[in-house]
Amino acid sequence: MSELEKVFKKIEGYRDEIIDLQRDLTSKVALGPDNGGTGEHEKAEYLKKRLKELGPDHLEEIKAPDKRARDGYRPNIIAIWGQNIRSAAAWVLCHMDIVPPGDLSLWEGDPYTVRVEGNRLIGRGVEDNQHGIVSSYFALKAIRESGVIFNKPVGLAFVADEETGSKYGLDYLLKDHGELFKHDDLIIVPDGGNEEGTMIEVAEKSMLWIKFTVTGRQCHASTPDKGNNSLYGAARLIVALEGLKKEYHLADELFSPPISTFEPTKIEANVPNINTIPGRDVFYVDCRVLPSYQVEDILESAKDIAEDLARELDLSIKVEQYYRQNAANPTPAEAPVVKALSMAIRRVKGLEAKPMGIGGGTVAAFFRQAGLPAAVWITAKDTAHQPNEYCFINDIIEDAKIFASVFLDESIGSISSD
Ligand SMILES: [Zn+2]
Repeated sequence: MSELEKVFKKIEGYRDEIIDLQRDLTSKVALGPDNGGTGEHEKAEYLKKRLKELGPDHLEEIKAPDKRARDGYRPNIIAIWGQNIRSAAAWVLCHMDIVPPGDLSLWEGDPYTVRVEGNRLIGRGVEDNQHGIVSSYFALKAIRESGVIFNKPVGLAFVADEETGSKYGLDYLLKDHGELFKHDDLIIVPDGGNEEGTMIEVAEKSMLWIKFTVTGRQCHASTPDKGNNSLYGAARLIVALEGLKKEYHLADELFSPPISTFEPTKIEANVPNINTIPGRDVFYVDCRVLPSYQVEDILESAKDIAEDLARELDLSIKVEQYYRQNAANPTPAEAPVVKALSMAIRRVKGLEAKPMGIGGGTVAAFFRQAGLPAAVWITAKDTAHQPNEYCFINDIIEDAKIFASVFLDESIGSISSD
């Protein structure tokens, strides 16, 4: 039996332990102050103890100061094995915090007590992000218990504050302990993926939210000539903004969907009654823009379209940037971390993985902004943030094998020359 097969066999025997670990983690409610909690301390202390049992060369709790949290800080746990091996490291970064359960009447049981239904585990956090925590933990445990020797450093990072902005989590680590991660490290963030486990997310679009305020003149609905209908103006403007799709039409097959999207979403209430012509309407457009386009250009084009229409209808139209997030440089589809993951997925699942881009919003963007090529991957149905959130035990077992493959593969990671 090869060393990797030995490790795989061990992982297959962990079914009951996987359930126990999921149960323990789910019961240690880790809500940040923005979500009405005191932080991730209880979960972090527990994980630190469990990691210590696996004999890491380095185990550290990095405290990000946060006055609102218990003891004035947010915990981030770092564990490293094979620390002195001269090679690029493999990292798995997961977040410990969860989102609140939401409407409890939509849950079929207590969100913080894991229910087991055959292959399915149900509870808040079992997928987001304990699927990643548990599968990477058991990959490590299997390697340690099989006595297999690491050929590169392997790190697990369990961080705080992913759900409310990462200021006290990955963002803090990169600013205050940036030396932890190196440019040629393999960095995996198991916080998004598809059911088959074949989607490796490597890129995000830029995000731009535009606010449009259309001002006309309010009057009685029976005498439209005495006013100027802002809702009619808003409707015409929404149609005119279709022009953005034509102007910024490039497609990039890396992304799903492959084009930039421009969607009118929220509209604010105008008049409360039916027999008044409104004089002011406010609506918003959510733009997800391919990294090949400049967000400023989109905003300028939207202003031009609004200006033309304002002139035609004798309205005043204000166009404002409400929120924006520029896309970080994508992780190249040929990056070592993508190759390593693809190889491991092929070995364990017999499937071909595909690097892809999404609409935006994962924690990997912080790595990419720091010039560290990170890949987001997991096998999951994406029930994150939903009532009756669930994950499959089989997926955790397979994903643990995939992590173990990445951690142990000789051909992955290069010996540094210095
Ligand atoms: Zn998550």
